[in-house]
Amino acid sequence: IVRYRNVTKVFDQRVVLKRLDLDIMPGEKIALIGPSGSGKTTIARLLMTLEQPTSGTIEVNGELLWHMQHKGKLITANEKHLHRMRSSIGMVFQHFNLFPHMTILRNVMEALVHVRKIPKPQAQQRALELLQQVGLQDHIKKYPAQLSGGQKQRVAIARALVMEPKILLFDEVTSALDPELVGEVLDVIKGIAEKKDTAMLLITHEMDFAREIADRILFTDGGVIVEQGTPEQIFENPQSPRLQAFLTRFL
Ligand code: ATP
Repeated sequence: IVRYRNVTKVFDQRVVLKRLDLDIMPGEKIALIGPSGSGKTTIARLLMTLEQPTSGTIEVNGELLWHMQHKGKLITANEKHLHRMRSSIGMVFQHFNLFPHMTILRNVMEALVHVRKIPKPQAQQRALELLQQVGLQDHIKKYPAQLSGGQKQRVAIARALVMEPKILLFDEVTSALDPELVGEVLDVIKGIAEKKDTAMLLITHEMDFAREIADRILFTDGGVIVEQGTPEQIFENPQSPRLQAFLTRFL
């Protein structure tokens, strides 16, 4: 469903991603692990078109999102295609990014009404179902500031799910939470992971969690995928010294 080819990203002369190749298959659950600054967030932000690559090609559903022409010019899909590709991708961030002046219900409905142009009663119904799924049906009239971090993050997840994305990106969604709130968010993500048709790219420092839900784990360091494999291969039998050293810090 997603294909990165030869993708390089340079920030201020610092190479953050080096010639990255990555395929995400429909429904596949991938966990991205690696030290801070290794380029994990950049991989997700390129797909959300929040950053543009310095070179390389990224395709979504067989359509070009970013494409490097042979003369070195970077082009992007036209607005119509971009819009369609973006709406097949959902992202949940570390810092929730909810609309503070809207109720929880409005936060979840908003994109259905304004992007998808779905009539309000149907949008509301759909948003209520998702808020129930994340266990927040009793809080729908509250504003984000009235919720705990874990609850806010569950709203952010419901808001991403409401668009029925083909791929969901989770960027360290538990790292800003108090430890006692991490479990409730991970449980919600586990529930979503059971959906066979939604692919997930999960950037995380929660190794047990990655192991539990991922089909494939990628270890990035210094802007490259150093090693990848099944959870068993990565955790039981890591090959590269860098991955071995990284894991001893976590396990
Ligand atoms: P973390 O686990 O800390 O989020 P990461 O593996 O996700 O790290 P990235 O966030 O992708 O790493 O960042 C890789 C490097 O790129 C970092 O050194 C960061 O400082 C740099 N970087 C990221 N975004 C920008 C930007 N907009 N401008 C300049 N440098 C950036």
